[in-house]
Amino acid sequence: MSKILIRGAKVLGGEPQDVLIDGETIAEVGAGLSAEGAEVVEAAGKVLLPGLVDLHTHLREPGREDSETVLTGTRAAASGGYTAVFAMANTFPVADTAGVVEQVWRLGQEHGYCDVQPIGAVTVGLEGKKLAELGAMHESAAGVTVFSDDGKCVDDAVIMRRALEYVKAFGGVVAQHAQEPRLTEGAQMNEGIVSAELGLGGWPAVAEESIIARDVLLAEHVGSRVHICHLSTAGSVEIVRWAKSRGIRVTAEVTPHHLLLTDELVRTYNPVYKVNPPLRTERDVHALREALADGTIDIVATDHAPHPHEDKDCEWAAAAMGMVGLETALSVVQETMVDTGLLDWAGVADRMSVKPAQIGQATGHGRPVSAGEPANLALVDTEYRGQVDPAGFASRSRNTPYQGRELPGRVTHTWLRGKATLVDGKLT
Ligand SMILES: [Zn+2]
Repeated sequence: MSKILIRGAKVLGGEPQDVLIDGETIAEVGAGLSAEGAEVVEAAGKVLLPGLVDLHTHLREPGREDSETVLTGTRAAASGGYTAVFAMANTFPVADTAGVVEQVWRLGQEHGYCDVQPIGAVTVGLEGKKLAELGAMHESAAGVTVFSDDGKCVDDAVIMRRALEYVKAFGGVVAQHAQEPRLTEGAQMNEGIVSAELGLGGWPAVAEESIIARDVLLAEHVGSRVHICHLSTAGSVEIVRWAKSRGIRVTAEVTPHHLLLTDELVRTYNPVYKVNPPLRTERDVHALREALADGTIDIVATDHAPHPHEDKDCEWAAAAMGMVGLETALSVVQETMVDTGLLDWAGVADRMSVKPAQIGQATGHGRPVSAGEPANLALVDTEYRGQVDPAGFASRSRNTPYQGRELPGRVTHTWLRGKATLVDGKLT
């Protein structure tokens, strides 16, 4: 493999440095490095980050290849600066056996755009009744350490307790989609002033918060690790903050869309804004940003949820829930967290690479940009501003809430173990 010299990049937003990649690893970081025998990438003014890691991606394969495949999803990930994604288990068939998780893991390896770490289902068929083969999935080639019924909540307290006990044995984590099912029957959007005015079924904050409260207490009781998917309310933030202050081993994520958008957008009745958990209020958005800045919320995770045109281009009530996110995540984080002064680029590296890699035990990802480390890197033109054009997405789906919106920042290069997956904004 050849040498690559990334010249003059602001590493984690700091002083300009040269970074020399030799084969799969970072050979040297410093000023004025020799370019002899190396391909040079001029990076003056750009920010160099460790390759991003997404703990919450829906790749849809097997079973819904009309919305996304491992290939198209990992190409979308590389476009967004990601070098590892965790693939949710709600596929068809469900990823609840060693066979399915190995299949997804192998496809990621074969395509080579981004490492794919499958998430195993907590319960058989996501039905919430019987624990899936957690141990077999962990011991498989995929080495699963994160388990989730995402899309559905593990609402049975006994099942949740058993899952926490089981994963404790090998240091795994259960990622909960916190949604009390009875409190959200028929819900179409956030419960509040807007839902009352529109006459749409409301999704109360307490449906999320009550499950989080229960699960942090269960995690404390068992002495195990729980991760809370897509926090969306100010109350959820308060519970996680309280749990962490007690020393409970809880981590939490927020999506880019919950950092930017509110339920006021539902007034348009455009189903592109329909998502689970729903868009909340300005007050919630503010609390989520503050919590991500102060570390109460550990990470940003996309909840990239591709849907084909026909599942979104219909009336609000019938539309599928979810948004694509891999190709716009970093831009939304720059807009909401960096350009607002809440987080610097080192903080972004922490929340979008280092911490998610730690939570999911993604070996070789989320590492420092220094000599001897795997060359998993993303180069970002932070001065760029442009309108989001879904026609240019690598994802098979186009259900973005940002069509036509101007957002800052653009990933120009991504390297996976020294191999360029994105060059000058184009996939290799
Ligand atoms: Zn979810």
